[in-house]
Amino acid sequence: MKRRNFIKRASLTGLGLAVGTTVSSCLTEDRSTKKTASVTGTIPVVIGTWDVKNSTAKAWEVIQNGGSSLDAMEQGCRIEEANEKGQSVGKGGLPDRDGKVTLDACIMNKDGDYGAVVCMQNITHAISVARKVMEDTPHVILAGKGAEEFAVSKGFKRENLLTEASKKAWKKWKEKSEYKPIINIENHDTIGMLAIDKKGDISGACTTSGLAYKMAGRVGDSPIIGSGLFIDNEIGGATATGLGEEVLKTVGSFLIVELMRQGKSPQEACEEAIKRIVDKPNSNFKNFQVGYIAVNKKGETGFYSVHKGFTMTKYQDGKNSSTPSTHYINS
Ligand code: ASP
Repeated sequence: MKRRNFIKRASLTGLGLAVGTTVSSCLTEDRSTKKTASVTGTIPVVIGTWDVKNSTAKAWEVIQNGGSSLDAMEQGCRIEEANEKGQSVGKGGLPDRDGKVTLDACIMNKDGDYGAVVCMQNITHAISVARKVMEDTPHVILAGKGAEEFAVSKGFKRENLLTEASKKAWKKWKEKSEYKPIINIENHDTIGMLAIDKKGDISGACTTSGLAYKMAGRVGDSPIIGSGLFIDNEIGGATATGLGEEVLKTVGSFLIVELMRQGKSPQEACEEAIKRIVDKPNSNFKNFQVGYIAVNKKGETGFYSVHKGFTMTKYQDGKNSSTPSTHYINS
């Protein structure tokens, strides 16, 4: 038996686990309130950054119908990408400083395969293009025009992603043209989602229009393997939102998965990854937000952020919940 299969089996059967049952519980300490909270894990599970109930609900539905966590991630992300009212994902996303909506997205499956598009214009469903990159090309990332042409060759339609509302917001911004990465949660709505399906397999996805009014060509953490997203089907997964530059510099999602490999709970691992950002020399953390969510193989979840205001949306045991973050810094 291959090591991967052995570990997979050991983690599901050796621990006496069965799909849909409570698999473990542990105590974690909430640093800001000094209370303890009970964390239990069950599978299947779906979690998402922010209050993305429509996307997590769709992902949950796919899994309940026997679909894979990979299909759940793609289908879930597509809901928000098509929602023109959401101004930081897909159609209707806020543009760069030149008025162009550029999308970043990635997806990762249980086998450690990965696909991403960066700085892609005119195609709403960046997550589906990322999946095509993963499945239909020998590459991992396609950028800009190449990504767009590839999408069109796969049957995706070109669309104008700049809605009237986003154009209006951009014009207002242009009056001062001041670029400051601010804490404003409205400006950070990347969808990062993680799921474990009924077979116990983990996948993840991340899709965004990136920072509003960014420099042309700017790419954030979201489509970069190990930063915006990382999955290891033996251990768990993590994904990020917030100021991508800080996540990139600390390779946050990979860090969280590796910390879980070393025995930390998802909550502890997220807290450590945030601490790495905040504790950096000359960290400017008071002026930006970063949030992580994570899940381990047992279905235990965790999330943490630099500032309060971050939420995690979760489907587990058939229940949908949205939990406001504890926070590292009292701001
Ligand atoms: N992480 C994204 C980026 O830096 C932004 C966000 O989460 O809203 O592009």
